[in-house]
Amino acid sequence: MDKIKIGLFGGTFNPVHQGHIKAAERVQQKFCLDKVLFIPSNIPPHKNMDAVALPEHRLNMVKLAIADFSRFELCSVEMEAGGKSYSIYTLKKIKKMFPDNDVFFILGIDAFLEIDTWKDYEKVLQQCCFIVISRSGFRLLDAKKVIGGKYGGRICDVSGVQIGRDYKFFPGKIFLFPINALHVASTEIRKRIREGASWEGMVAERVEYYIKENRLYQ
Ligand code: ATP
Repeated sequence: MDKIKIGLFGGTFNPVHQGHIKAAERVQQKFCLDKVLFIPSNIPPHKNMDAVALPEHRLNMVKLAIADFSRFELCSVEMEAGGKSYSIYTLKKIKKMFPDNDVFFILGIDAFLEIDTWKDYEKVLQQCCFIVISRSGFRLLDAKKVIGGKYGGRICDVSGVQIGRDYKFFPGKIFLFPINALHVASTEIRKRIREGASWEGMVAERVEYYIKENRLYQ
């Protein structure tokens, strides 16, 4: 049987916004991924939890945001596990769920620049491919400087590269994928809601209703 290609898109998704959705769409198409799993973290180890909505709200919002995308799926392993969410454990579980398939870790350059703060990050980097996407305010090429340039040799810019369905992937590769990332962040959305400013169009319509109905981030 052919291998399938699975993208893991983890995040706090507090709330999930159009920047996440557009980025995941671009990556899914470029890398011919069979599915993209959206994995909301339970307790993100690197974020201040003060303004983080309850796990079930963040889960529900992701469900609503991806409802129209046949290749997107919600994956609740981190919430089911409880406690702090570490990518190394998530990856282990996903590999058990989908043995012998190609697994890709999808993340923005802002997150990749902090990878040396992750638990067992070297193992995570070894065990799957990484797809690093642009984020406004950050330079994608700075990925080459991460950890003193230690991983520079594994980095491959795919901007001009055509990736067909039979492209061979090897774990440990780090793909840089420049996209026109939407200039939107969950922090900004929360701030605008708090201050009564406009946040129109930043999240999917169903997510907007959900936030209003549940009076989140007030
Ligand atoms: P916050 O503002 O609360 O820090 P965020 O908007 O960065 O949140 P996260 O849920 O922390 O959202 O992000 C999950 C993943 O999505 C990260 O890898 C992040 O780099 C990426 N990401 C977030 N926003 C965008 C965007 N606008 N374009 C591309 N990638 C994004």
